[in-house]
Amino acid sequence: MKIHEYQGKELLKTFGVPVPRGIVARSVDEAYQAAKDLGTTPVVVKAQIHAGGRGKGGGVKLAKTADEARELARRMLGMKLVTHQTGPEGREVRVLLIEEGLPIDKEFYLGIVLDRASGRPVFMASAAGGMDIEEVASKTPGLILKETVDPAVGFRAFQARKLAFGLGIPGALIGQAVKFMQALYNAYEQMDASLLEINPFLLTKDNRLFALDAR
Ligand code: ADP
Ligand code: MG
Repeated sequence: MKIHEYQGKELLKTFGVPVPRGIVARSVDEAYQAAKDLGTTPVVVKAQIHAGGRGKGGGVKLAKTADEARELARRMLGMKLVTHQTGPEGREVRVLLIEEGLPIDKEFYLGIVLDRASGRPVFMASAAGGMDIEEVASKTPGLILKETVDPAVGFRAFQARKLAFGLGIPGALIGQAVKFMQALYNAYEQMDASLLEINPFLLTKDNRLFALDAR
């Protein structure tokens, strides 16, 4: 079952994974009200379609004011959004996520997948976040760190620490990053997910960590 970004984030939140504040909007008026209700600027207007690459395709836009958010919503709702994952026909945008715009310092990649051969989950991390991870995997496989999980004992704190250090997370934030990854693993395990991808895993300029996207 594929779920939208906003649904993924709602689920992750229940497992203690920090996500940006956001409000779902299905009309231009709702988008305007959502931006007002968030109470901070900028906000990000995000098209909810079952495909990635929305940013490059024009489905993720920053608005400096609620009026700007309304204008962006007017343009996005009903459009056929084309990304490298949708095919040329695109996907119609019916739902938007209006989200607080966070100050980006660094974008990382985190992913948990089941390795078919061993039957074990593999926790992956890369400092090359925000990009297409398949491209990173084929061109620069050394940029992807991997920790295989023994299902009998689960994802261990030392494994999370290794990944966090490998990403170059600042020392003062390692504990926070470990907690984040453990919460993510719990979510993967308890939802019985086949894939859980956070791209980007965000480090803000004021040293906070967030799941900025969820798949
Ligand atoms: P997609 O992967 O479909 O392109 P993302 O949710 O990853 O969509 O968003 C694309 C990019 O937009 C992110 O890599 C990030 O740089 C930026 N972005 C997304 N959400 C926010 C947000 N809440 N605040 C600031 N920047 C954001
Ligand atoms: Mg993304």
